[in-house]
Amino acid sequence: MTRTRPFSTPSPDADPLRNDPLAQQLRSLGLYVVAERYRELAEEATRTKTPYTHYLGTLVSAQLAARMDRSFRERLARARFPAIKTLEEFDFSFQPNLDERAVRTLAGLEFLDERKNVLLVGPPGVGKTHLAIALGVKACAARKRVAYYQAADLMDSLALAQAAGMLPARLVELGRLHLLIIDELGYTNLDTARANLFFQVVSRMYEKGSIILTTNRRFETWADLFAGDQVIAGAILDRLLHHRHLIAINGPSYRTPDLTVMADPLQQSVAQIR
Ligand code: ADP
Ligand code: MG
Repeated sequence: MTRTRPFSTPSPDADPLRNDPLAQQLRSLGLYVVAERYRELAEEATRTKTPYTHYLGTLVSAQLAARMDRSFRERLARARFPAIKTLEEFDFSFQPNLDERAVRTLAGLEFLDERKNVLLVGPPGVGKTHLAIALGVKACAARKRVAYYQAADLMDSLALAQAAGMLPARLVELGRLHLLIIDELGYTNLDTARANLFFQVVSRMYEKGSIILTTNRRFETWADLFAGDQVIAGAILDRLLHHRHLIAINGPSYRTPDLTVMADPLQQSVAQIR
């Protein structure tokens, strides 16, 4: 009786690399793109009399490009952005009061090398989170270590870490970042413990890495924000603002553009600080 192969089992010839020892060796070296493309490109190189070094160069570039792509995707995943937003998607004409040139300069990422912070301040819906993420995505593409947190989540997770005796380890972890994005500071006031934790985060990053902070709160109200503690609010502001770019967005909400914006006291404090 002859036994038939079940449908699901591929025939030995289904995988062309199976009988290709060179491809197998390349794969075991992790050079998957080279393994996949070396033969086709070799045929083409023979046909077009391409020099050997060009042929090798093309293969190596293809492998490198794939690796960069993967590294970018991994960095994006590790950053934990709530959504991917890009600068290209941002409609500057919608926010004529926003300094487009300053934002485009930030996208060059020099602020990361200079360990400067970026503060994005303005009322809800004007694109603070969008811009913070867009800069974070650029930083990932530039092979930087990036993490995104909503301020309240970051403080909660640090409070938990503290309770579990893990705070030092968490702070070391945060301190390794090139860019820490703290989004939406100010929707809720922090208690004393969290205000202290926030201070520790800012101290840890100070002159070692960069923070992008978005907030709807004018600086005069920061004492309330940090458990009514003028001293800690001052110490935090001092470190955050020492080396910083301040981007004020005072315009209509992109979510509800039909609502007129009231004269915003936040902008006055921003103007003072400039
Ligand atoms: P904020 O953080 O200031 O409250 P968001 O960045 O969350 O505002 O913006 C709200 C929504 O509107 C998001 O989906 C964002 O992508 C979009 N958005 C805001 N401003 C713009 C803009 N100028 N161009 C394109 N999309 C925008
Ligand atoms: Mg936001």
